[in-house]
Amino acid sequence: MVEMKLEGLQCASCAAKIEEKLKSNEFLQEVSFSFATKKLSFKSDLESEKLQNLVQNLIDKIEEGITVGIETPDSQNVIEKKSFKDLFLRNARTIGGALIFFTLLISDPTEPILKYSAYISAYLLIGGDIAWRALKNLLKGRLFDEYFLMTLATTGAFALGEIHEAVAVMLFYKIGEGFQNYAVDHSRRSIRSLLNIKAEYANLINGESIERVTPRSLQIDDHIVVLAGEKVPVDGVIVRGTSSLDTSALTGESMPRSAEKDSDVLSGFINIEAPLTVKVTKRFENSAVSRILHMVENATGKKAKTEQFITKFARVYTPIVVFGALALAFIPPLLGSGDVREWISRSLIFLVISCPCALVLSVPLGFFGGLGAASRKGILIKGGNYLEALNSIDTFVFDKTGTLTKGNFAIEKISGTDTLKLAAQLEQQSTHPIARSIVSAYGKNINKNHMTDIREYPGQGIRGLYKDKELLVGNHRLLERFSIDFNEEKYAGTTVHIAYGGKHAGSIYIADEIKESSWNMSRKLKTAGADEVIMLTGDQKHIAEYVGEKLEIDKVYSELLPEDKMQHLEDLIEKGKKVLFTGDGINDAPVLARADIGVAMGGLGSDAAIEAADIVLMTDDPSKLLDAKKIAQTTRAIVLQNIIFALGVKLFFLTLGALGHASMYEAIFADVGVALLAVLNSMRILKK
Ligand code: ADP
Ligand code: MG
Repeated sequence: MVEMKLEGLQCASCAAKIEEKLKSNEFLQEVSFSFATKKLSFKSDLESEKLQNLVQNLIDKIEEGITVGIETPDSQNVIEKKSFKDLFLRNARTIGGALIFFTLLISDPTEPILKYSAYISAYLLIGGDIAWRALKNLLKGRLFDEYFLMTLATTGAFALGEIHEAVAVMLFYKIGEGFQNYAVDHSRRSIRSLLNIKAEYANLINGESIERVTPRSLQIDDHIVVLAGEKVPVDGVIVRGTSSLDTSALTGESMPRSAEKDSDVLSGFINIEAPLTVKVTKRFENSAVSRILHMVENATGKKAKTEQFITKFARVYTPIVVFGALALAFIPPLLGSGDVREWISRSLIFLVISCPCALVLSVPLGFFGGLGAASRKGILIKGGNYLEALNSIDTFVFDKTGTLTKGNFAIEKISGTDTLKLAAQLEQQSTHPIARSIVSAYGKNINKNHMTDIREYPGQGIRGLYKDKELLVGNHRLLERFSIDFNEEKYAGTTVHIAYGGKHAGSIYIADEIKESSWNMSRKLKTAGADEVIMLTGDQKHIAEYVGEKLEIDKVYSELLPEDKMQHLEDLIEKGKKVLFTGDGINDAPVLARADIGVAMGGLGSDAAIEAADIVLMTDDPSKLLDAKKIAQTTRAIVLQNIIFALGVKLFFLTLGALGHASMYEAIFADVGVALLAVLNSMRILKK
């Protein structure tokens, strides 16, 4: 994936044109452009220098003044806040024109030459650049361009002698455009500031001294110091010190988390109390912060259906309105009803309302806001499409171990001799939560060399040769598979059997705990509109049913192999259900990928799961799905409000204009106002 940034893009409706143009180029694939982040992404085989030229050339053909920059991971995502002075200078001509216009309104000169030349110069000062751009675009064959239409409308008004209107409409248009840009930049800034989680520097321990370095330069196993008040720059593990950490930027959790020697820390946490010495375990680009920023930034590339629809709609809206204007100007007079001048004057109102700006601006911004709000709560959603799809999910499916339960098993009982030692030898090779618990319960060093021929049986256990004899660790199905005789003792937790050299050597009895945040979740999901909550697990029936009953889950399927889980999921999808699957990803990455929406646990989950999932829950709390659902709902409501409101107002003024009840003044005011309100409305999502 290549990413580029388009700086200097102001015109919202150009975004769609740019995307379309690039899509039709043979060298670029999977093109996506988001107006909200100004980020362009695509695939291509060309080398980067050629690409930049190619893209720049293509874009220059559409709109001038845009610079194409290559996105480097280090490029700062700051959006310059424009100073007041800057704003003033930039708009000096418009302000000058406005002053002349107001003087003219007050003094009201009657001498025609003086009057006309004064009005024309005011007009040119205010809208000269617009007219110039319109002309250039026209030469490039771009007819339905908002600049062109504004210019046409205002010069038309001039020609009809409506000189006040002509200047005023251009002035309002400019002011409106300025405000819109400001509002859009402001929104982008607020969303970005939510993601202000990157540390600027790291304190590297170098012998006796401490050096300030960039987080990117840190290597695995470096030791760094994180002082109180500082952000953790990369993921690592604490080697000295005790403190508490503010994890809210990543997880949305407001309660500080205590941390001591051997605790893992993630980049983006803030150290609150005392200095910590941290050993680096992940390089900057693989650390949590980089991964999160990358995901959120790229999320806007996967567009929601509504967003795609609006883009398509915007393309036809303008031509339709323009043809409407033409029809209005000429058909009634041809049919003999009234004065041509009157109808032309009415049709100009159409041109003023012909830009779909309000929609093009506010809909993508709405989704971007929703994604930002979710990531603030530790819910990483990988695309606007998933945020929107959350609203139509009716079936919530959960994995048990590591998802609804904590997955850190406590060993309650062990039978047989050397059972734990044998089990640990083999489980050393597995990432399954059961395996990790057994290894940490054993606690001693394990010599990996004694183990050969290791193979894991997903949903059953693991097998290998230990000192050349067969060792099996897993559930009853694994033992049955290898025809080992054993006695099953009744136990209210998970039983792990160990067989060595063809004989049952003993069992480890372990218990798991239900996560606090799993309680009541099922009921709340159903109150929030879910039809059914289902649990799919590879664990034994009696435990599965116990957990299912406690958590009020509608249907429980147990003792499933990974492929059985997939079968259940496909059956549901076949029945027309919209299915969300939540899992820790151990043994269920394919299911995550197949579900309409796959949700992975970000903390416990494996990298493969995080990769396969559409939504990642940073805190491993399944109940965050309720928050995600709420944010999805709000986003949808706000986007819908904007669409209805913007189209409603436009339709209203088109009708009024056609009937001769509205002037150009009112039309431009309504149009600009709507765009502004819609952008501001989108911002409400962040308050959720
Ligand atoms: P869940 O669907 O509940 O997350 P899994 O599919 O990951 O469960 O595993 C199902 C069952 O398979 C576990 O309950 C356990 O009995 C057995 N199992 C899987 N992997 C291992 C392993 N590495 N060691 C021991 N038992 C295992
Ligand atoms: Mg699992």
